[in-house]
Amino acid sequence: MSGQAVQEALVTAYHGGLQVLAHCNGDAAAEQFLQAVAAVEREFPDFRGLRPVMIHAQLLGLDQMEAVKRTGVLPSFFVAHVYRWGEVHIRNFGLARAQHISPARAALEQGIPFTFHQDTPVLPPDMLGTVWCAVNRLMESGAVLGADQRIPVEDALRAVTVHAAYQYFEEARRGSLRPGKAADLVLLDADPLAVGPDALRRVRVLETVKAGETIYRA
Ligand SMILES: [Zn+2]
Repeated sequence: MSGQAVQEALVTAYHGGLQVLAHCNGDAAAEQFLQAVAAVEREFPDFRGLRPVMIHAQLLGLDQMEAVKRTGVLPSFFVAHVYRWGEVHIRNFGLARAQHISPARAALEQGIPFTFHQDTPVLPPDMLGTVWCAVNRLMESGAVLGADQRIPVEDALRAVTVHAAYQYFEEARRGSLRPGKAADLVLLDADPLAVGPDALRRVRVLETVKAGETIYRA
């Protein structure tokens, strides 16, 4: 799509009151989306209230994070790429750029409410596996890719709970445990904040509760 076409699509979404989730893998695609969002927001400042989402944001540049913050775009990183395809990214882009794929730490430092996803069925929707990836950034080889983009466990958990609910306008009902919110939760066999970064991947779901009712038991 041309920049103009992207902008027109965003205006159409704005008039329909629709949230936009745009697939941007490369830094040029991210730039095109950010510029289009900025242009639309100049004309319609409350476009920001529709919480535009940048899906993957794989090669989102550290120098683009300020524009993400300014426009209110929510990045959703496919951070498990680090583990599954880290070596491929190094081959394709060189180490310097590969180290900054899925730059969650840079987003965190800007106070941007990012989320994580697995592009299922590309990878199974394993949220704890994704939390492990974001915290450790280990590749299949065992080497770390982009140590400076690792984030604390609590922030990784927030990305798949509080921020995920916010991304879908469900923060009043889901995302955290509060009186009055839906009782949607999982029971784990260990405390992810206490087990240590390496063991996160081995934390298991014992029980899943949906709207107050158990729908799965291990
Ligand atoms: Zn995709």
